[in-house]
Amino acid sequence: MIAEIDFNITTVLQSKLQNISLDNVPFGKYFSDHMLEVDYENGKWQTPFIKPYQPLSLDPSLAALHYGQAIFEGIKAYKDADGKAQIFRPYDNFKRFNLSAERMEMPQVPEHIFIDGLRKLVNLEIDWIPAKADHSLYIRPFMFSTDEAIGVKPSSKYKFLIILSPTGPYYASPMRIYAEEKYVRSVMGGYGNAKAAGNYAGALKAASIANKQGFDQVLWMDAFEHKYVEECGTMNVFFAIGDKIITPSLTDGTILAGVTRDSAITLLQDEGFVIEERKLSIDEIMDAYKAGTLKEIFGTGTAATISMIKELRYKDFVMLFDTSKWSIAPMVKSKMDAIKYGQVPDSHNWMVAV
Ligand SMILES: *Cc1c(COP(=O)(O)O)cnc(C)c1O
Repeated sequence: MIAEIDFNITTVLQSKLQNISLDNVPFGKYFSDHMLEVDYENGKWQTPFIKPYQPLSLDPSLAALHYGQAIFEGIKAYKDADGKAQIFRPYDNFKRFNLSAERMEMPQVPEHIFIDGLRKLVNLEIDWIPAKADHSLYIRPFMFSTDEAIGVKPSSKYKFLIILSPTGPYYASPMRIYAEEKYVRSVMGGYGNAKAAGNYAGALKAASIANKQGFDQVLWMDAFEHKYVEECGTMNVFFAIGDKIITPSLTDGTILAGVTRDSAITLLQDEGFVIEERKLSIDEIMDAYKAGTLKEIFGTGTAATISMIKELRYKDFVMLFDTSKWSIAPMVKSKMDAIKYGQVPDSHNWMVAV
């Protein structure tokens, strides 16, 4: 049996909360009063600290800054009408975090640090969870290498932290996207299925170009043929075609296996929908649009939740939708929200009390 490790806890004298309104808080701008911090050294995790949120002091030679061993997770905590706080599927994020760590040659984070630490921290910050529709407390666990030496090799030291940010809606309105033809996010054999910082750095250029043209995001395509759709920015993507729902399969290891993706598949299956996880080409999508059978396109992600996509372009071909007539994406969102906000029985055992 593993002995219960002690967390070293120091609390703030005065909360910052009284200076912040939790109504319509922008995503990722405010952070709660405390954070979790723990170092990995000499082959083992040291004492975890929960302490006032504060800057880190880092050496300029810090390995992560040069060679990018850095991974993260995104999880949300919600409050129900009675003020009870629950976290959505944190064990799935915990497992994925360690898959990302394995891919990036980083140490595994044990459950008693990741899960127990997260629950202790959220418990301490319970007042930071907004009790309002489309609002939640975003939980950001992350780890990076901390060797102080320049040289390309796996670091021997790491830092794992968890910070918390109260948040309102992410993409409030339906999105405009286009299929990206030049840049790629991920390739077979790469690390597109790891939630690694570098995946985002490499994706910024395409997103900036899209933003300049008035688009919210790009739809990533496969790296070899630029033919099959993969995912969209920080979201997995679903297409309702005819009476089926199609989402790109995870088998090539180029797509991040979203927890929201898995939840959407489960809820759609509960409703009797047939889900196909397979390769989906942009030609098939355009053909379905022309035939009038492409009904809805939506993205799924912890930050974005369920986001309707009202416009998809490929080269000069424009696919436009009237999202006010949609039923599937709104149904998935309301079913998922009802579970998250404790309004219906949690029949899939997704919620974890803090
Ligand atoms: C985090 C992420 C998603 C969504 O995953 P969730 O577990 O649903 O939040 C999708 N794509 C990428 C690239 C991501 O980093």
